[in-house]
Amino acid sequence: VERTQRLDKARAERNRTAAEMKALFSGGAGKGGKKGGKKAGSEATGAVETGAGKTELSKEAKEAKRQELVERGRILKEEIHAQEAELAGLETQLYEQAIMIPNTTHPESPIGPESEARLVRIQGVPRLNPGVKAYAQPGIDLTSEALGGAGEEGRALLGNVSEYPLLDHVALSKHLDLVDFESATAVTGSRWYYLKNEAALLELALIQFATQRAVKAGFMPVITPDVVRPEVVQACGFQPRDEASQTYWVSTVAPGSPKAVSTEGAHHHQHSALCLVATAEIALAGMNLNRVIEESQLPIKMAGFGRAFRAEAGSRGAEVKGLYRVHQFSKVELFVVSKADPGESDRILEDIRTFQEDIFEELGLCYRVLDMPTEELGASAYKKYDIEAWMPGRNGWGEISSTSNCTDYQARRLNIRYRTNKLRQPQDPSASNSVVSTEFVHTLNGTAMAIPRIIVALLETYQQPDGSVRLPECLWPFMAGIKEIHPK
Ligand code: AMP
Repeated sequence: VERTQRLDKARAERNRTAAEMKALFSGGAGKGGKKGGKKAGSEATGAVETGAGKTELSKEAKEAKRQELVERGRILKEEIHAQEAELAGLETQLYEQAIMIPNTTHPESPIGPESEARLVRIQGVPRLNPGVKAYAQPGIDLTSEALGGAGEEGRALLGNVSEYPLLDHVALSKHLDLVDFESATAVTGSRWYYLKNEAALLELALIQFATQRAVKAGFMPVITPDVVRPEVVQACGFQPRDEASQTYWVSTVAPGSPKAVSTEGAHHHQHSALCLVATAEIALAGMNLNRVIEESQLPIKMAGFGRAFRAEAGSRGAEVKGLYRVHQFSKVELFVVSKADPGESDRILEDIRTFQEDIFEELGLCYRVLDMPTEELGASAYKKYDIEAWMPGRNGWGEISSTSNCTDYQARRLNIRYRTNKLRQPQDPSASNSVVSTEFVHTLNGTAMAIPRIIVALLETYQQPDGSVRLPECLWPFMAGIKEIHPK
């Protein structure tokens, strides 16, 4: 603010100097009539002080004055340029700091790291695996060891220990010829995969199943672009340029090509590079960029299908195996634009969660819902629920879905507003009955179906003693008549 004021002062001073210069050759001086309009003449009275109209300056005095004004103008011009550059630098710094500020959090969200997650509910009974030591993970301990000492409730859950060791999805997909990791490693790299046979059908079936449920629940189906501008990624609360970023970049300029190497090419490269989305949430949020929506249109409910891409740098342990943490996956994502009323967006968050739970219940998965603590909310979320499915292969829970209320965090950065009819202020009798104004919307997102981990949970949950897998009934209509997966 101080620098802006200083710059304004310098600019005003420069204007005054220019006006003085004009006055010197016009108005009362008589001879400068060519340049001296009526306005300049009156300015001259102020600028050259008393008697400008009466006494004419000598030629020499006038020339001296002119040189003085030219010099002052030159100095001011330099000063202004320097101050403008400084101010632009400060604005960039301010923006860089401001973009790091996360959303506020819900007053009831647990405070702290992942271990502080609050258990909301458990659906179903975990199918415990006698053959596998529990996969160590933070959160509520429901592993066989912990349950043994957990009293009656724990023992009730222990009633569901499998009579035979349960295979993990990697062993099952090998046995059933469902996934080709080797070819993908050769063709692309590690953490890439080919889905084959029933697994390929299963992905398409899960997408259909989730999309049809979403459409029935009033969501508009959308197929989204998987490549977006970096500014849109950033506006959604992700930092694509951050070192720890999970973002893949794409460019139409081949690395090492003459275009990329030349200065001009490097410039072009920098400005034309786009991002692969980590989630369709980004494309769906961006769909409303710079839009003013009529209040009567809200809420807007969308279900987008897209591919999600994640660099997944620095992943660990058991998660490195198989389909659990991969670089690319298909996902049906829910996205809602709502009025900026915390009560309303809170209610919509609960609706999304209920919709997600209905889908996972219909698939017959055992899952738990967690109210996520503040350190797990990322930049954009105000409140977030994760849903974790029981995965017998790891004898533990694994995240399959999440839903967040981002309030107006993304809307401010994407400039998404709605026209609202606010009642006029009672103390303002001059206003008409209602005043049209705009406000930033609230945005919410949620996973309807993230394919790979659902395949993990389904294969591991529905395996039979001979290693075949019986699919849940809700998927049969989309599986080309296949109800069970057997070795080929
Ligand atoms: P997120 O947008 O990070 O909340 O992720 C949404 C959902 O996508 C998660 O609940 C997982 O089911 C799934 N997911 C996230 N990252 C991966 C990954 N690297 N590989 C497979 N599935 C993932």
